[in-house]
Amino acid sequence: MAISEEARAVHDAYPCIDLHADSLMWARWIGYDLVQRHSPPLPKAALGGHVDLPRMREGGMGAQFFGLVSLPFMGRTRGLAATIDEQIDQLESALARSTGGLALVRKASQIEECNRKGAVAALLGIEGAHSLEGHLDRLDAFARRGVRYLGLLHFSANEAGFPAYGSGRRDHEGLTSWGCALVERAENLGVLVDLSHINKRGFLDACRMARKPPIVSHTGVLGAFEHWRNIDDEQLRAVADKGGTVGVIFCPRFLGGNGLEPVVKHMKHILNVVGEDVPALGSDWDGFIVPTNKLADPTGLPELTESLLQAGISERTVGKILRTNVMRVLAEA
Ligand SMILES: [Zn+2]
Repeated sequence: MAISEEARAVHDAYPCIDLHADSLMWARWIGYDLVQRHSPPLPKAALGGHVDLPRMREGGMGAQFFGLVSLPFMGRTRGLAATIDEQIDQLESALARSTGGLALVRKASQIEECNRKGAVAALLGIEGAHSLEGHLDRLDAFARRGVRYLGLLHFSANEAGFPAYGSGRRDHEGLTSWGCALVERAENLGVLVDLSHINKRGFLDACRMARKPPIVSHTGVLGAFEHWRNIDDEQLRAVADKGGTVGVIFCPRFLGGNGLEPVVKHMKHILNVVGEDVPALGSDWDGFIVPTNKLADPTGLPELTESLLQAGISERTVGKILRTNVMRVLAEA
């Protein structure tokens, strides 16, 4: 796709911020190097190898949130926190090798500063409160290492609540009392609460008690495509009411189609239901998904900007989607 001058100008004015990529999981598993260019992606695996510093630069990215994943297979309850620490270690080693090209930051103002210097900002988010192993104060320790959001659930029930899908699912139960205490603790620490993967009851509970803007770091929306992984309009409104933001996932299975058009469709649905202050980017690159055509890695982002503008979305709103909605939420946390 040819990128128009207008799209190029908008894209350059708003260095993209993506809310979720699991690249550090691959770094920990197979030594995936965030600093080197990987093209094509990992051998035989379309499921990973999507993000690295050279391609983030080429795609016009200002910041990437890296998800920190631990998998409590077969009820594993120990060593989960250590798995998170090992992924942060991997990032720290990549930062050292990037010679200033990539920097770990916590605040919106630091993203600005980083981008002014021509560097890409890295931020951290945990996927699933099971990695705290039942200890609220583990979150304090992770926050000290730079963690900026906490996803309450992943694919299995944990001390905080129940997943939208996965083991231990209970659709009629919401946040536990420990989950409520955790939301409060996160907010006090300035850690954003991420409502990806949590069941609807827990999602609405967390929004109801939120004093800070919640986020949904990677999701599709039911109004654009009917799928268990997607959130409905009531959930969108609950996040919007608290000033939060929702990152649209780049996975065709959840978008209901391949290419840029389905991504635009989900963005437009969010705009129609809750307005321009909510949508953002939530790729799920490197998250064991095959990304949608044209957005297989960050180099496709200028084409997304072109498609959003062609769909009649204003430059100002596109800027909010690419960057400023996330900047606002970070500043408010
Ligand atoms: Zn996920």
